[in-house]
Amino acid sequence: MRKKIVAGNWKMNLGFDEGQKLTSEIVNMLKDEQHSDVTAILNPPFVHLYPVKKLIGDTPNLFLGAQNCSDKASGAYTGEIAASMLASFGASFVILGHSERREYFKESNELLTEKTKQALANGLTPIFCCGEPLDIREAETHEEYVKNQLTESLFGFSAEEISKLVIAYEPIWAIGTGKTASSDQAQEMHAALRGHFASKYGQEVADNLSILYGGSCNPGNAKDIFSKPDVDGGLIGGASLKSRDFVDIIK
Ligand code: PGA
Repeated sequence: MRKKIVAGNWKMNLGFDEGQKLTSEIVNMLKDEQHSDVTAILNPPFVHLYPVKKLIGDTPNLFLGAQNCSDKASGAYTGEIAASMLASFGASFVILGHSERREYFKESNELLTEKTKQALANGLTPIFCCGEPLDIREAETHEEYVKNQLTESLFGFSAEEISKLVIAYEPIWAIGTGKTASSDQAQEMHAALRGHFASKYGQEVADNLSILYGGSCNPGNAKDIFSKPDVDGGLIGGASLKSRDFVDIIK
């Protein structure tokens, strides 16, 4: 059956020493405390990837991911990081299409198709983000809006390729605001999105797809949200910068 996943998204935070300290604390807590059926992922900024990977070592069920990759394979693209590089530095996952990248860096659904191709071609698992802004939620067109993001970016892929993805539903109005979707709102959207994949790729593919919730998850609300049948874990921003909080969410 589908995997339970908790991914920490450090965003643009932490210097070298802070990143090392946070990772060491998480590794030590996870070694001491059972979380055997959850895949945990650290997604630090690019410059942390290699040293974080060294600290993760062979910690069971703890993996490395990045927050973005280029839509290009390699070459003269100053400042870009290729998916092949991420793989060669030990990353297994890459977050794609986070709402902050869509909003501040103008990433389009079409561009995200190309990034997804690069990730898959290099053996990385994309954590593909989708989610609606507040005005769309208030207009009650959020389901159509998010389905459209997925259709435009992903529905050109084969069922086999889709099976390799993780989806993260993150309502933008809940990111970093302290305001989470209720567990019922999350369940409603996750079920709708799973149904959307089922309509294109069949029920089996949809049933095996892990769909994570993101937006102000913390140790106090994670249990309620993750207990819903179509919520398979979380993408954690702020709370992933605190080792105790992050590990409590995993547990
Ligand atoms: P948050 O961020 O947990 O700080 O709301 C989640 C995310 O943006 O992935």
